[in-house]
Amino acid sequence: MTLAIDGGTPVRQTPYPGWPQFGAEEESALLRSLHQGQWWRMQGCENLDFEQAFAQMHGAHSAFAVSNGTVAIEIALQAAGIGAGDEVIVPAFTFISTSMACQRIGATAIAVDVLPDTLCIDPAAVLANIGPRTRAIIPVHMAGHMCDMLSLSRIADQHRLVIIQDAAHAHGARGYADTGIGEYGSLACFSFQNFKLMTAGEGGLVLCPNEELREKVFLYGNCGRPLGDRSYQHTVVGTNARLSEFSAAVLGVQLSRLEQQTRVRQHNARLLSDTLARQGLVTAQVRTQDAHTHPYYMFLFTLNDLPGQRALDRNRVVDCLVAEGIPAFRSYQALYRIPSFWQAPAPTRQDLAQCIASCPVTEHMAQRGIWIHHRALLGNEQDTLDIATAIAKVHQHLAGER
Ligand SMILES: *Cc1c(COP(=O)(O)O)cnc(C)c1O
Repeated sequence: MTLAIDGGTPVRQTPYPGWPQFGAEEESALLRSLHQGQWWRMQGCENLDFEQAFAQMHGAHSAFAVSNGTVAIEIALQAAGIGAGDEVIVPAFTFISTSMACQRIGATAIAVDVLPDTLCIDPAAVLANIGPRTRAIIPVHMAGHMCDMLSLSRIADQHRLVIIQDAAHAHGARGYADTGIGEYGSLACFSFQNFKLMTAGEGGLVLCPNEELREKVFLYGNCGRPLGDRSYQHTVVGTNARLSEFSAAVLGVQLSRLEQQTRVRQHNARLLSDTLARQGLVTAQVRTQDAHTHPYYMFLFTLNDLPGQRALDRNRVVDCLVAEGIPAFRSYQALYRIPSFWQAPAPTRQDLAQCIASCPVTEHMAQRGIWIHHRALLGNEQDTLDIATAIAKVHQHLAGER
């Protein structure tokens, strides 16, 4: 069978479920927020209701909804007292916002490697990179797989570091021993951008472990102005990160869809992992005990280099998969290979060569990694098996090309 990219019949004759998904519930929520008459959080109840539901589901004290996930990390860092001159340890394999948020508030991001199985930040690499100015760690729950929070918490306690979870992929994820993201005593940041597991097109949220941090997060996200202030008291330099009532109303409904969608994705991801393991052509992210509940924002894998076969061109594989009807993407670049990472305030005790040498897993992921958007896991078992069929088809053709 000819590859679809060369004019052949694609593996997928019908498209995967679309994203975002919505129904009459989102429509009526939008109308409800419209008819409130006041469309910002200060006089409405949509943000408050959504925050309460989201915090409760994750086992957190409270939450503050914001305009996007990037700004969520910025204000979480500020609320935790991180600022100019401080260093924050981040995984080298993540979306740029994890490190850019640090730079935006004057701190320096130090990029360290991830674990080869879960692709989450390596606690040993964190430990090895703690310096005199290190103040915080931002673990990213990669693709929805929870990090090794027990080891990270131990390291943070021993070295008096703050943890801020980047949970942009991890709505509804649960960690080791069925622990919710809000139960670790740290701030956690979410994104509701269009691709994410719940969305209002744009949006974000910070989960807070106590009232004191909730007030600080509110302050930094509300132009530095305390709740209830009527006399223009701006006690810190903040920003306006508030989310509109329309967005919060949609997110409340999106939250109610999450658990069911996660069940379907977990089921299909297991089927796909098992099928791909039998094929032996690719290696998928390994799900460990740290991922009690894995919502699968992405299905993440790398191409294997098979003995006696030339290595496949990853970018060409992605293009071929897309032509076969699979929503596939190249995985993230290593942070330290992105120019903005080296703009001030940039690391001075790390350089590019050292980063490359100390991050073999990130290097491998950046060169060989592919991810499939979670909407492809929302179909039935045959839809899921088609992903493996497409990978095998593309592999067979490209490995045979001379
Ligand atoms: C999407 C994402 C963000 C940022 O979220 P936005 O809402 O797009 O600003 C942060 N971190 C990670 C890991 C992400 O994937």
